[in-house]
Amino acid sequence: MDSSRPTLPCPFEKVFPSQLQRDDEFYMWQAYNLAIDAWRQDEVPIGAVIELNGEIIAAAHNQRDSTRDPTAHAEILALGQAAKAVGDWRLTGATLYVTKEPCPMCSGATLMSRLKRVVYAVPDPKMGCLGGATDLNGLPQSNHHLEIARGVLEKPSLELIRAYFKLKRLED
Ligand SMILES: [Zn+2]
Repeated sequence: MDSSRPTLPCPFEKVFPSQLQRDDEFYMWQAYNLAIDAWRQDEVPIGAVIELNGEIIAAAHNQRDSTRDPTAHAEILALGQAAKAVGDWRLTGATLYVTKEPCPMCSGATLMSRLKRVVYAVPDPKMGCLGGATDLNGLPQSNHHLEIARGVLEKPSLELIRAYFKLKRLED
């Protein structure tokens, strides 16, 4: 770990739901746990997983600061992993779970990868582009449209993000 970037201790614990009921909350808890991993590396706590046929084929968290890469968002990293796992850039039938509504870049990537569904926890009225600030999924001429579900585990995911920024402000 880069010692020049001391981490703020994360006061939140990971949550491990039963494996028996693999519903939207189950997968979102996995994304939530990755968001905690992000915090532990002093990254903005956003996590994502991709599910296909009941299996998690990709799991990633935001790594923008550690990689100094503006595209290293959780969703982009997860989409890359999933494409590698499937052996195709088309992620037909797959669902992305992410703890915050995708930004313009990531919303575009979810469309371009032909995902079936996107499920997000916290809506983002500032930069969210799947219904929050605007809706790229509603482009009238596009022939691919995603199914969208919003607000799954919104409360714990929002608490995590808010607490992180609050501590960061105190530190600065
Ligand atoms: Zn993004």
